[in-house]
Amino acid sequence: MNQFNIITIYPEFFESFYNHGLIKKAIEKKIISINSIDLRLYTKDKHQRVDSKTYGGGPGMVIQYQPVRDCLNVNKIGKCYLLSPQGETLTQKKLIDISKEENVTLLCGRYEGLDQRIIDNLVDDEISIGDYVLSGGEIPAATIIEGITRLLPGVADDIDSITHDSFYDGILDHPHYAKPEQIDDKKVPNVLLSGNHQDIASWRRKQSLGITFLRRPELLKNVKLSKEDDRLLQEFIADYKQEENE
Ligand code: SAM
Repeated sequence: MNQFNIITIYPEFFESFYNHGLIKKAIEKKIISINSIDLRLYTKDKHQRVDSKTYGGGPGMVIQYQPVRDCLNVNKIGKCYLLSPQGETLTQKKLIDISKEENVTLLCGRYEGLDQRIIDNLVDDEISIGDYVLSGGEIPAATIIEGITRLLPGVADDIDSITHDSFYDGILDHPHYAKPEQIDDKKVPNVLLSGNHQDIASWRRKQSLGITFLRRPELLKNVKLSKEDDRLLQEFIADYKQEENE
């Protein structure tokens, strides 16, 4: 079982997260367990504050060392990851790596952030979910837990749906279509109706490679393409150029 302890000043934030979809299913099947722990329970401040003004002056409040230290002393399991815009940016590869850790503690910042001594002494690693700033670490923590949970054996009904997702093998996913076959002026590509599994697999691979080439060409530099992949990609590019000229 993968266990997550989340340290937060808003433990109730996660209630709806626990009660929907894949996370709910994984908890019920005892594949994961999540505890959201109220940081305020560990403060020695009589008003239950966990923050104070920043030394040196300036706007905003800073989470203090004492409540975090005392909370982690009781609740830290496995590595402690601080959610922070200054951390290593989350990728599918990083999610796969963390999914192998059975116990994970996620520390959610708020306000201007945390006393630097928490980062120096109490945190093992920092993770960012992207180059932008949110108000707290709760959404990043939920992002990590959801990203990991869907990778765990027994959670997805069909593991192939996970291994074909964007980024899993370094490139983007191919297009998908649902009923009906024709809507407005748009028809499902004929190959997907052909029943020929080899042709369908080849078409999907070609689309994945082509879409990655058009939208995220830098990803292709880190993927080892087979001769067949090269051929499919060249075919996609030729088709694309021809369509553009029509
Ligand atoms: N002053 C901090 C800075 O500029 O680096 C930003 C603090 S932010 C307003 C408050 C908290 O939200 C952070 O401590 C962190 O836990 C969380 N947070 C904000 N953006 C994040 C991101 N991109 N990834 C992960 N956590 C983030």
